[in-house]
Amino acid sequence: MRNYRFNRQRGRAGTRPGEFAGPAAADPRLLRERMARQLQARGISAPDVLSAVKAVPRHLFVQEALAAQAYEDTPLPIGHGQSISQPYLVALMSELLQLKPGMRVLEIGTGSGYQAAILAALGCTVFTVEHLRDLYRNASSLLRNLGFRTIYPHLGDGTLGLPDAAPFDRIIVTACGPEIPEPLVDQLDENGILLVPVGSRTRQNLKRLRKTGGRLTLEDLDPVVFVDLVGVHGR
Ligand code: SAH
Repeated sequence: MRNYRFNRQRGRAGTRPGEFAGPAAADPRLLRERMARQLQARGISAPDVLSAVKAVPRHLFVQEALAAQAYEDTPLPIGHGQSISQPYLVALMSELLQLKPGMRVLEIGTGSGYQAAILAALGCTVFTVEHLRDLYRNASSLLRNLGFRTIYPHLGDGTLGLPDAAPFDRIIVTACGPEIPEPLVDQLDENGILLVPVGSRTRQNLKRLRKTGGRLTLEDLDPVVFVDLVGVHGR
C-alpha cells in the first residue's frame, strides 16, 4: 500500500495537517480499523476492500468541522448540496464491482474524491468525472497532495462518459438519475460491469449491468439513496 504523504509532516501541537484534535482525537488509523470491523459485521467480506478502507484517510475528504464524524457510517455534506456517501455504500459498491488491480474504472460523480481514492487503493486506474467546478478542483488537489498517481479527474457531464478514454472495465455512477445513461453502456468493455443507481428522488435501486459476448444482463440490487445525477442523460 502507498505511503501517503499526509503521514509525514506534523503541524503545530503535534497534530498533522487536516487532523482533528480534542477528545475525539483518537488515532485515525485505529478509527479506520474499527470502521473496517463494523463494515465486516455488516457483510462486507472482500479483504482487498477492507484493506482499502483502512488505508484511505476519509477524515481528509470531509470538511474540517466534520472530521470527527468521518469514521462513523454516515454520509456527510461536502458543500454545493452534495455529499460523500456513507462508508458502507462505498465499500458495498467497491465489492459489487469485482475489481482486479490494473482495471480501468470510470467513476461518475467525483464529489469529495473518496470513492475514487478507494478504487485507486484497490489498484485500479481511475477516470473520475465531476460537473461542479469547485468540487472537481478540491478533489483534484487533495488526491494529488495525497500522492495518488493513478486517478485522472475530469470536469464535465459524466452522463456522456469519457469517449476518448473508453472502453472501461468497470463503470460506477455515484449519483442517481431516472435511467441508465446510454453512453455509459456503450463505453463499457466486453466482460465489463456497470454499477448505477436508478430511480426517482424517493425510490432508488442499485443496478448491476454486465456485458458478456455483446449481450447485456441486468441485476436489481439493494435500495439506495443518492443525490441527483444531472446532465444530458440525467435528471
Ligand atoms: N463519489 C462521491 C460521491 C459524490 S455525490 C464521493 O466519494 O464523495 C455525487 C456527485 O455527483 C456530486 O458531487 C455531484 O455534483 C456529481 N454529479 C451529479 N451529476 C453529475 C454529472 N452529470 N456528471 C458529473 N458529476 C455529476
